[in-house]
Amino acid sequence: MYLRDDEPVEVRHVQPYEAVKAYRCPGCDHEIQVGLGHKVVVPTDAADLRRHWHVGCWTQAEKRRKNARTQR
Ligand SMILES: [Zn+2]
Repeated sequence: MYLRDDEPVEVRHVQPYEAVKAYRCPGCDHEIQVGLGHKVVVPTDAADLRRHWHVGCWTQAEKRRKNARTQR
């Protein structure tokens, strides 16, 4: 996983009309199709590692990250 559980990130929502390019979602390794609203997740300290996620995939990843942090 490219993203550490405690990595601070900035999350932006991409509206359907803004989604003009297809991206591969790191959560499920499937394509995010053009015209589909999704999330852009940017590590605060590593903006070059920004990734596009399906909304549902990021929700899952967030939950997992939160759990990992509280178990420490
Ligand atoms: Zn996905």
